[in-house]
Amino acid sequence: MNILEPTDENIALAADALRRGLLVAMPTETVYGVAADATNREAVRKVFDLKGRPPENPLIVHVATFEQVLPLVREVPPMARVLADRFWPGPLTLVLPKSDLVPPEVTAGLDTVAIRMPKHPVALSLILAAGRPLAAPSANPFTQLSPTRAEHIDPELAKGIAHVLDGGPCFVGLESTVVDLTMNPPAILRPGGVSRGDIQAALGVPLGQIPSAKMRTSPGMYPRHYAPRVPVRLVECVPPEAAGLVLGPAANAMQIRMPRDAVAYACALYDALHRLDLQEPTTIYVERPDGGPEWEAVVDRLVKASTPG
Ligand code: AMP
Ligand code: MG
Repeated sequence: MNILEPTDENIALAADALRRGLLVAMPTETVYGVAADATNREAVRKVFDLKGRPPENPLIVHVATFEQVLPLVREVPPMARVLADRFWPGPLTLVLPKSDLVPPEVTAGLDTVAIRMPKHPVALSLILAAGRPLAAPSANPFTQLSPTRAEHIDPELAKGIAHVLDGGPCFVGLESTVVDLTMNPPAILRPGGVSRGDIQAALGVPLGQIPSAKMRTSPGMYPRHYAPRVPVRLVECVPPEAAGLVLGPAANAMQIRMPRDAVAYACALYDALHRLDLQEPTTIYVERPDGGPEWEAVVDRLVKASTPG
């Protein structure tokens, strides 16, 4: 695997690869993404092939400036400005009406495009150096665990990637919140790094419910997703001899004590699951965190990771 330090020279090298239609793995604050030039349909198709991602699952387009949003959309609803001002750069994705510049491969034929400005300095530098928006899902095979460190990236997957930029551990560690602003009122399609409460507070209106037909257009809503190879079981109490994630003291070397704070838990979650997965226990037990609203995204991932394949 060609892992590079994110020096200016290496970012320029990776940006050049992107402009030539190749793929680059980049750190963001949420998870590592496999990026392609969002305006190059051939390059975007490579992302789907590499991940084994069904073509009907749209990708998020990453920008480094708000100006880069404008050619990608037909209009910028006032709420988009409010949310971008408040949460960008950061783990919030906005679904907006798409322009013709965005190829249908990116949006899975939908009339909308999901856009976000990541907070990681390496991602922002790479987008600016490439000089174009980057379509980037997580750098893992479809339905599997997302990488939150460069070394989590599957070496088989990395064979299809020109360069992997190592930006250290992701500091949010869980995917972005996806908000659909083409609905009135807007609704969360996937809970993530920005909480429902913070979005509602910024908008000053309650978020709506997703109509069930919309669910099928949101890959984050597949029943099984974000899963290690080893089966995961969500339980009230992890058996003392078992491998798993616990909230109290660890009872053996195969247990990892997780933070009791939801944000810190989210940041540690995928790395902890990757570490246990490598040790190949028969099952990874996860103690269910008692869920206040701030646990929405973590509980969503734990339920999906524990759904049988
Ligand atoms: P991932 O790249 O695996 O983190 O997932 C991308 C997420 O973006 C999915 O969960 C979808 O909910 C969402 N998404 C991307 N594009 C669209 C779109 N045009 N409409 C609705 N959801 C989208
Ligand atoms: Mg993903």
